[in-house]
Amino acid sequence: MREQALRAILQGADLVEFRLDFLNSAPKGPDIVGLFAGLAERAIATCRPVREGGRFAGDEAGRLDILRQAAALGCFAIDIEADVPVANWPGGQVIVSHHDFGGNMPDMDAWLSRMAGTPAAVCKVAFQARSGEDWFRAAEAIRKCPKPGIALAMGPAGVASRVLAGRLGAWGTFAALEAGLESAPGQPTLAEMKGLYRWGRLSRSAGLYGVIGCPVGHSMSPAVHNAAFEQAGLDAGFVPLLVEPGWENFRRFMDAVREREWLGWRGFSVTLPHKENALRYVGPERCDELARRIGAINTITIGPGGTLRGDNTDYGAAIDALCRAMGIDREGLAGRAVAVLGAGGAARAVVAGLCHYGSRVTVKNRTVDRAVKLASDFGCAAGGMVDVVDAEIVVNCTPMGMHPNVDACPVAGLGAGVKVVFDTIYNPLQTKLLAMAKSRGCVCVSGLDMFVLQAAAQFELWTGKPAPTGTMRDVVERRLNAL
Ligand code: NAP
Repeated sequence: MREQALRAILQGADLVEFRLDFLNSAPKGPDIVGLFAGLAERAIATCRPVREGGRFAGDEAGRLDILRQAAALGCFAIDIEADVPVANWPGGQVIVSHHDFGGNMPDMDAWLSRMAGTPAAVCKVAFQARSGEDWFRAAEAIRKCPKPGIALAMGPAGVASRVLAGRLGAWGTFAALEAGLESAPGQPTLAEMKGLYRWGRLSRSAGLYGVIGCPVGHSMSPAVHNAAFEQAGLDAGFVPLLVEPGWENFRRFMDAVREREWLGWRGFSVTLPHKENALRYVGPERCDELARRIGAINTITIGPGGTLRGDNTDYGAAIDALCRAMGIDREGLAGRAVAVLGAGGAARAVVAGLCHYGSRVTVKNRTVDRAVKLASDFGCAAGGMVDVVDAEIVVNCTPMGMHPNVDACPVAGLGAGVKVVFDTIYNPLQTKLLAMAKSRGCVCVSGLDMFVLQAAAQFELWTGKPAPTGTMRDVVERRLNAL
């Protein structure tokens, strides 16, 4: 524990919480002295009992005695559970805390006002986030608390309450030294907090952005957009926002955003399964024309007074990735024969863009009915999947070849007329399809270009500034290489 504490300080932690209940056995006097030697002034001593979600199973008098010794050694603060009578407090500066591991603390206001009435220096509450908007209550608690406060929503839907704690005015937040050493669910690492989430570099009025999806934990958008904000010197933060599938969940989340203008949301990236819900919520009349025809948006921009605007940056990104690789402008796509493999969400955006710029598109899909439906929506041709595809441009919009199924390929061969192959998959960067295309001397386009360009377009819609695409691309490449 001491070695980990030293590492945390070296990595830039301001304070280190010593979870004394995590030790294999209750520490005795000399252990406690050795543990805190030279570190007490940076230490928060906590010995969480089982009743509050901790591991200390011994008697209460023994537990308080351990904390008394830590206080006597000059620890910066002692964490004491709110149900311990003030008369039994061990001395020193106190963080009074209450944790609801099983539930979402419906009586949080009552707990906070009781805690604020004690001599504690800091009040801390932690509860389980049950829905996408539940963690907003943590932001409200910090706002209302008459003393320095910490309010954390635990679990994957509460990550934002942890990483935005500083921006929300909390006294502090908690991070794990490394993955696997978390002391509560949803806790990011110290490196993520200081690097990815720009801890300490956001003002209290920083603009807030996030990616709404389910699942969202593996989204690269927080890393890409935070790096872009950093590079552009913008006072803005970007967080993952887990919102369960379904229109009602999405609507509740967005209503909660709009009821709390003081939170300072400026925009959202929207991913699966909420792209259609996003268009419905924003309203088709406030979305771009092709987005309306696609029936989905991936970008919400919140303007002054809470006005909403919806955009689909996927189709433009796909078109631009293709055009850049071919050295043509969008109008140069007119009349070219394109085979689009797949008829799902990505294919829909690609087909919409290609048809808009006058390409002669054929949609080829395993389920032919879906190909026919997509083709009829945009006035192009349809057919089933083929062994050998032949068109000037081939675009793969199926997951075939995506990690971990890297040996899969949507087609067995490419026809003699194929000059350009665009695989929308970006993990791996070179799919089996692209390797085949490369060996035949075709122009190759990877899904990375599309991913970076759709994020860059979002950045520009939100900030009105040119996106640092080089930085954004580097972030994705580094993350992919680390997988
Ligand atoms: P989706 O809506 O689930 O559609 C998947 C499509 O792939 C469907 O047409 C499906 O055919 C077909 N398919 C799935 N498994 C297949 C198989 N084993 N054999 C033949 N066809 C198969 O997914 P999506 O959102 O469109 O995403 C598709 C891919 O696009 C993703 O895997 C991702 O790599 C890529 N993408 C890239 C970006 C980017 O920014 N680069 C963005 C979005 C998506 P059926 O209709 O017969 O089921």
